Amino acid sequence: MTSPSPLALLGGPPVIDVPGPHFAWPPIEDNDVEAVTGQLMSAVSIPDRSGVIAELEDALASFLGVRHVVTTCTGTAALHSMYTAAGIAPGDEVIVPALTFHATATPLFHLGARPVLADVDTRGQLDLDDAAHRITARTKAVVAVHLWGLPENMDALTAFCARHDLMLLEDGSHAHGATWRGQPVGSFGRAAAFSMNGPKPLSAGEGGFVATDDTELYYRVLLHGQYNKRCRREIPTGHPLAPYAVTGMGLKLRIHPLAAALANAQFPRLQGCLDGREAVAARMRQALRDVPGIGVPHPPAHARPAWYALPLRYDPDQLAGLPVERFIEAVHAEGASEIDLPGSTRALGDHQLFHTPGALMPGYADHQGPAADSFTNARRVHGSTVKLPVWHRDQDRYLADAYTTAIIKVAEHHKELVK
Ligand SMILES: *Cc1c(COP(=O)(O)O)cnc(C)c1O
Repeated sequence: MTSPSPLALLGGPPVIDVPGPHFAWPPIEDNDVEAVTGQLMSAVSIPDRSGVIAELEDALASFLGVRHVVTTCTGTAALHSMYTAAGIAPGDEVIVPALTFHATATPLFHLGARPVLADVDTRGQLDLDDAAHRITARTKAVVAVHLWGLPENMDALTAFCARHDLMLLEDGSHAHGATWRGQPVGSFGRAAAFSMNGPKPLSAGEGGFVATDDTELYYRVLLHGQYNKRCRREIPTGHPLAPYAVTGMGLKLRIHPLAAALANAQFPRLQGCLDGREAVAARMRQALRDVPGIGVPHPPAHARPAWYALPLRYDPDQLAGLPVERFIEAVHAEGASEIDLPGSTRALGDHQLFHTPGALMPGYADHQGPAADSFTNARRVHGSTVKLPVWHRDQDRYLADAYTTAIIKVAEHHKELVK
């Protein structure tokens, strides 16, 4: 008779017996409650750049080292405003990594432009050789996405855009406060868009913003989604766009002041959270670095990630072919319930919208979606990514340790799951 397996999935005791959830974001403290209730009593609609809107935008602009920030109702809206303000026009092509959250690319459909997917490398970063092959006479821009908060290679990307005369834009939605050679991501491109949705490193609950050094682009962001008072106050009389101030481009994409108040109260704690996450991520990477079947990220020394998540690369070949889904099931049974496979952040070519947008979006009837077998790396990286939350508080380190222990335990006993 063989001895019973210690794996919880096979009846053994679990590593973690603290009931979940084990990770909550954003962390809500007393001063968040005070800030939001204080805002509730002072102003719930702010039509110009005043009060909490100005405070938050000033804080973000100085944090990123850019001249202008415009807050928006969502990150998706920020991307839409950014592309519009950057002059992306009907028929223009924008190179987007094939592995990202779909909203990096979807606003382009509303501009009559074409998202051109380019594959990623084995780490999930934009593959510039593949991108180079996709450049045409209509290519206007490349979007850098700092996936899971790990900065893209900004040396390579800025050189690539300079060489091919393309505009560099950024989607920093995973990466508030991440830096490359000490420079914040979101300050490299002509403009950057960020989400401040619930789980993002800086959270407004719902919100987003555009960051740029370019004052003309800033005016166009205002005209896209912040019409009337704000445009009238900020676009100088005599500027050729000033006559459009009242209507702008007709969209209203302002952030809610209560959401702005939450982000503004969270913001002073962001750097501390990033420092805490960095320490915990280092601890988890160290614990997992030699575990067979588990690859940990190795960002270069001059990159400082925001650690929106810790993305591990799962290799079933090193674990007797154990499918990743079964592996996840086993770590969940150990009580590590917050480990998962990325859901909506996936190979974009797999979404119906990127194949046949024509059924939803008039004007795209002839749009040729990517072939089913293209973007092999995007698919492979997505299919092998197992992500963990990265805690930031000292008192949560035991959870980070328990989670890595659960992973190690399942990896060590993987044979019991495949026999
Ligand atoms: C969250 C996210 C968005 C969209 O932001 P919302 O605030 O949810 O609209 C866009 N791009 C990336 C990479 C994201 O993670």
